[in-house]
Amino acid sequence: MKILVINAGSSSLKYQLIDMETEEVLAKGLCERIGIDGHLKHSPLVGGKPIFNEDLPLPTHSEAIAAVIDKLTSAEYGVVSSMSEIDAVGHRVVHGGEKFASSVKIDDAVMAALEECTPFAPLHNPANITGINACRAVMGDVPMVAVFDTAFHQTMPGKAYMYAVPYEYYQNDGIRRYGFHGTSHRYVSSRCAELMGKPIEELKLISCHMGNGSSICAIDHGKCVDTSMGFTPLVGLPMGTRCGDLDAGVIQFLMNKYGYSIDEMLNILNKKSGVLGVSGVSSDFRDLDAAASQGNDRARLALDMFHYWVAKVAGSYVAAMNGVDAIIYTAGVGENSKETRAAISSYFGYLGVAIDPEANSKRGEDIMISTPDSKVKVFVIPTNEELVIARDTRDIVS
Ligand code: AMP
Repeated sequence: MKILVINAGSSSLKYQLIDMETEEVLAKGLCERIGIDGHLKHSPLVGGKPIFNEDLPLPTHSEAIAAVIDKLTSAEYGVVSSMSEIDAVGHRVVHGGEKFASSVKIDDAVMAALEECTPFAPLHNPANITGINACRAVMGDVPMVAVFDTAFHQTMPGKAYMYAVPYEYYQNDGIRRYGFHGTSHRYVSSRCAELMGKPIEELKLISCHMGNGSSICAIDHGKCVDTSMGFTPLVGLPMGTRCGDLDAGVIQFLMNKYGYSIDEMLNILNKKSGVLGVSGVSSDFRDLDAAASQGNDRARLALDMFHYWVAKVAGSYVAAMNGVDAIIYTAGVGENSKETRAAISSYFGYLGVAIDPEANSKRGEDIMISTPDSKVKVFVIPTNEELVIARDTRDIVS
């Protein structure tokens, strides 16, 4: 069975074609500047075919999907001989609200429910829906599945997901913590259980997804019981450009003082804050590491804040679960920055965590970086959201 995984953004579309017999990625690629002019980078990963990397007109997502199918099936760049070899499509969808606690086969009723979730993710869900509609138009009856960033977090208890505001805002408007990165937290937590050789139902895990966006998740006996992102991905940890937790009074103060509109204010909190805002250097942790090592105090402060917040939120999840068996680092920063892992782990002495510096300096593989006698184990597990989407799609369509 071959499954096409699609992650549609407003002007971009990422894809992978995965052979589920071997879970090998046959080809992957990215359409960019959809609706502007258009560019496709398509990389076949089997058969020694060349990479296609050229501008081509992509006025809408339909032309983008058609171009992807054309490349996947072409003699020169293709990895399958015709579209009929693609058995199903799995779509990443950001927000499933309270309607979707797991992945679901797409039909007209599901599409209507996705539209109802759009107010919760006005920037992301419309793009995901456009991608699905384009795929349905181009690929006809090929079965399709939606996999949600929010679904894994639907097991949170009310005490974790409720905000302490008048209850009718929850009842009438769905105001609550939803959480994001659920597909990543689900993948790394189940992989961690495999690496530990124990059923996930016997483990208390804390997963730290640290990339451009960052969130932490408490996974108690296989179920998410808390997570740091909320109604939107803005809160929790300070991130590349997002502010993380912030007193709402700051928003009122700044809007009054500088006359910002709410859109201008949210643009500052989403795009100009986080480690970029504090350091004034960059949102990229590589740049921050370099600046801090050259004596830039604000880059140092931004990094210290990030480490502190990860440790603080993870510590609160130890309390929430009354213990922890393993801590997982994943995503761009978690997988690549040994300095970040070491700095965060240095807060976990009270848990009996001891890091093996040699293991911590390895890259690109699932690895335990704690010493064999560390009371709580620490793992680096490269995330693989596309594989989760493909597996869910296979399980649902077959
Ligand atoms: P992601 O959102 O998971 O793709 O992560 C992207 C982020 O990972 C980048 O913005 C960088 O901040 C970070 N990153 C990637 N490689 C490294 C590295 N070697 N050291 C530190 N940070 C890194």
